[in-house]
Amino acid sequence: MRAKAHDGETAAVHEVEVEVSSWALSFRLGDEPQIWRFSEIEVEPLGDQVRLKRRGQGARLTVAADDWRAATAADAAPVARRHRRRERRLVVGLAAAAAAIMLFVFVGVPLASGPLARLTPPPLEARLGETYAAQLQFAFPTCAGEAGQDILHAFGDRLEDGMDSPFNILVEAVEAPMVNAFALPGGRVLITDDLIAEADTPDELAAVIAHEAAHVEQRHVMQAVWRSLGLGLILDAVVGGGTGAGQQAVLLAGSVTELRYSREAEAEADARGQEILHNLGFSSEGMAPFFRRLAGEDRRGERAAGVMEFLSTHPDSLRRAEASEARAQSGAVAFTPDEWRTIKAACEGEPRAPSAD
Ligand SMILES: [Zn+2]
Repeated sequence: MRAKAHDGETAAVHEVEVEVSSWALSFRLGDEPQIWRFSEIEVEPLGDQVRLKRRGQGARLTVAADDWRAATAADAAPVARRHRRRERRLVVGLAAAAAAIMLFVFVGVPLASGPLARLTPPPLEARLGETYAAQLQFAFPTCAGEAGQDILHAFGDRLEDGMDSPFNILVEAVEAPMVNAFALPGGRVLITDDLIAEADTPDELAAVIAHEAAHVEQRHVMQAVWRSLGLGLILDAVVGGGTGAGQQAVLLAGSVTELRYSREAEAEADARGQEILHNLGFSSEGMAPFFRRLAGEDRRGERAAGVMEFLSTHPDSLRRAEASEARAQSGAVAFTPDEWRTIKAACEGEPRAPSAD
């Protein structure tokens, strides 16, 4: 292959004959024999010519594009072909690795999260819950009404008698712009002011709280934490190289309100929540109407703006309403009319400022 060679130092142009082997170009530049391996050659197309440079060196070759193509065609230059083969192998390998990671994230981690949750020592889960609670205080300040909070605390204590949980159930009303209730690791159950406003009867609120308490008892909360931590570990492996950045990202972005439960877990929490109420002689008739209302199927026929939030974390409302209606039993009302008024008023007034610790 004929080429014009510049030595990179003088303006002189040398006409050279370039030998193309399976792995390199070789030619003479003045007295100097040159061997340029394909792996160190940079190729720059220039119209019907191609400029070749050896990485880190001023010298360059200019050849006709046709000659270059012919010299590096599949049969002429096995190296180029091998390069392409290696690239293909790399792409296939990366795709396989990505598929394996996806499989692990979406199948392996969820599968492992259940056993992991059951193996997590309760004191560890409780400590984790305190960390979450401290973070959440800023986003969702505690409602100011002490009397209302006391009634909710007492109800949480009462629920513990009807369940089999290693945790204290601590029910708390918080200010948040959404109709929602969520359980933290370790047994804290937060209910939002909008949810309290949305609940029509004490039975409805009791059912929602019992549902969340069941998530705690069944270790669903810890399971969801393991799932998101697992994802964090993988993000670390892929992105951060053990810096913990992935876990941090997951913890920050997906705080407790983002912890999702599976459909099975939701159905289980509905059933177990009602069972806990039955164990204590409370009515469990409030669950179905609350789900109906959220799904926009009640007499008001409209959804409060924040309701979508609850629906996104509690899917299948209508199906669940039917199932819980079938299981419902009448019983004692969880709160007296007086207590109910006090709970309803718990979130009036300025919320409690987050404590410093
Ligand atoms: Zn739930």
